[in-house]
Amino acid sequence: MLRTHNCGELTLKDKGKSITLCGWLQRSRNLGGLTFVDLRDRYGLTQIVFNMDDNAALCEQARKLGREFVLKVNGQVSERSNKNPKMPTGDIEILAESFEVLNSSATPPFTIEENTDGGDDLRMKYRYLDIRRAPVKDALILRAHMAAATRNYLNSEDFIEVETPVLIKSTPEGARDFVVPSRMNPGEFYALPQSPQTFKQLLMVAGMDKYYQIVKCFRDEDLRADRQPEFTQIDCEMSFVERDDILSTFEGLIRYLFKTIKGISFPELQKMSYADAMRYYGNDKPDLRFEMKIAELTDIVKGKNFKVFDDAKEVLGISVGNAAIWTRKQLDELTDWVKRPQLGMSGLIYARVNDDNTIKSSVDKFYSEDELRKWADACSSKPGDLILVLAGESARTRKAMSELRLEMGNRLGLRNKDEFSALWVVDFPLLEYSEENKRWHAMHHPFTSPIPEDASLLESNPGAVRANAYDMVINGVEVGGGSIRIHDRTLQQKMFSILGFSDEEAQNQFGFLMNAFEFGAPPHGGIAFGFDRLCSLFGGSDSIRDYIAFPKNNAGRDVMIDSPSIISSDQLTELSLQVVQSTKK
Ligand code: ASP
Repeated sequence: MLRTHNCGELTLKDKGKSITLCGWLQRSRNLGGLTFVDLRDRYGLTQIVFNMDDNAALCEQARKLGREFVLKVNGQVSERSNKNPKMPTGDIEILAESFEVLNSSATPPFTIEENTDGGDDLRMKYRYLDIRRAPVKDALILRAHMAAATRNYLNSEDFIEVETPVLIKSTPEGARDFVVPSRMNPGEFYALPQSPQTFKQLLMVAGMDKYYQIVKCFRDEDLRADRQPEFTQIDCEMSFVERDDILSTFEGLIRYLFKTIKGISFPELQKMSYADAMRYYGNDKPDLRFEMKIAELTDIVKGKNFKVFDDAKEVLGISVGNAAIWTRKQLDELTDWVKRPQLGMSGLIYARVNDDNTIKSSVDKFYSEDELRKWADACSSKPGDLILVLAGESARTRKAMSELRLEMGNRLGLRNKDEFSALWVVDFPLLEYSEENKRWHAMHHPFTSPIPEDASLLESNPGAVRANAYDMVINGVEVGGGSIRIHDRTLQQKMFSILGFSDEEAQNQFGFLMNAFEFGAPPHGGIAFGFDRLCSLFGGSDSIRDYIAFPKNNAGRDVMIDSPSIISSDQLTELSLQVVQSTKK
C-alpha cells in the first residue's frame, strides 16, 4: 500500500508515530505561519499541518495545492492543541515532513463536503465526485452492510443463492417490459425480467427448496420520485410452506436487519387484513407510527338537513390529538389543502372537543352538542382533540382521508424517521376489475393462489375471492410482498382464463411453467423485498436514489454516461432494426 494508515483511524494512541496517509485535499487554510490541509479518504478526515518555521519550502508548496488534489503525505502524529470532539481523528494532527502529489484535480463543479451547493443534475453528472461526499458514501456503505446481513441471515436459514437469467421473455408483474433485440434471431426480442418470478417457481419444481437472490429487476414505467427503471429486490421462494411459515421466516429477516444494522429490537409484527387497512387507514400500507383511525360517520350524520352530508356516499372522520387549539386560520389553510385537485374534496368540516369536554363544530347550525358527542364517540375523541370530517364519493373520500391523516401526522411530528412500525397486510383481493379494459386483473400476479376457502367463488364471484398474499409495510411504505403460489396446472390455467388469456395465449406465454407443474411441483410460496427502498428506510431518507450508486433521473436517463443514446446504423442493420422516429435531432 502507498499508505501506512487511512484518514479515519489515527488517534492519540498513535502520538509520535511516523505515518504515511493518502487521500484527497478537502480543504486548506492558510494562517500565515501555519497551513492546514484536511485530507479525506473513504474512512474519514485527518488534519495535516505545514509549519513555516519548520520547513518554509514545504509550506510554500503546500499552499499551491488545489481542492481534490490526490496527495501522499509523510509526517508525525501529534496532539492537537485545539481539539475537535466531532471528528474521530479530532485529537490529533499530522506534522507534515514531506508530501507527493499523486494527481492534480480540476476545480470540482460543486463543493465536496457534507452539504453541497451542487443541484441534482450536476451531482448526477459528476456522481463519482458526489460519492466522495460523506452522506452519499455512507448510504452506499449502509447498502453493502444490508446486503451482507441479508445473505448472512438467509444462508443461515439454509437458503441457496441462485442466479437467474437477465435475457428472458415477458414476465407478468404488470408493468411494461424493457426489450433487447436478438442479433442471432432477427426480428425477435428478449425481455428483461420485471422480477425472477417464474424462474424462482421453476427452482422450486427443481427441488431447490429454499432460494434467494439479490437481483436487478427492470420495469419500464413512468418514473416517480421513489422509482427507478432498474431496481434491486431481495427475491425469495420456499417449498412445502404455508403462509405463516413465510411470514415468520421473513419477519425474522427484517428483525435480524434491524438488530444488526440499527441495534433495534422489534416486537412481533401484527397482521392486518386488507379490508381493515382500507377501513381504518384508507390505504393498504398504513403508517402505524401513530393511531388516528378513520371512523365511519355516514349513518350518524345523515338526515339533519345538512346537504353536504345527506348527498355524500361516505362521511369519514378522524380525531387529531391536542389539535383543538388550532386557529381558524390554520383550519382555513387545511381546508384549502383538501380542496387541491390532488384530493378534490369540496370542503372540510371540523369539531373541537374542548378541554371541558364541550364540543363546538363548524356546522353547529345543523348538529346539536348531543349529535356531535356521537361523532366524538365514533372517533374515540378525548378532550383537546380536533375532529376532521370529509364527505363525498366513497373511494375518493377514503383516499383523501388517508392523505389527510398522514398530513396531520406530518404536521404534528408523529412520523419520526428514527421510529419504526412494521406490520403484515394480508388477505388482499385476488382480482381487481378494470373498468377501462373491461376485465379482471391479478392484484399481485397471476401465479398467486386464492385462499383455499374462497377458491369455490372463483367463477361465480371473482371479486370476492381473497388472495393468499401478503405485504410487509414499514412506516407506510410497502417494503415487500409475495404470495403462496398456484402449483397445479388446472388451477393455473383457470386463473389465466379468468384474466382473459385464451388457452393458446396462456400456453404461448407461460406454457413452460404450466408444463413444469405437470412434473411434481411442490406447494410453494415466496416474497420479494424492494432492496433500494429498504435501504432508504434504514437510512432515514425518502429517496431510493441516495442508496443507488449510479441512479437514473426522472426521465430515465443516466446523465453521467448520457444514456440511453442512439446506436450506429451498422448496429441497427446487424440487429435487423429500423428506427422510425428518434427524439434526438
Ligand atoms: N415477484 C413478485 C414481485 O416482484 C414478488 C413475489 O410474489 O414473490 O412483486
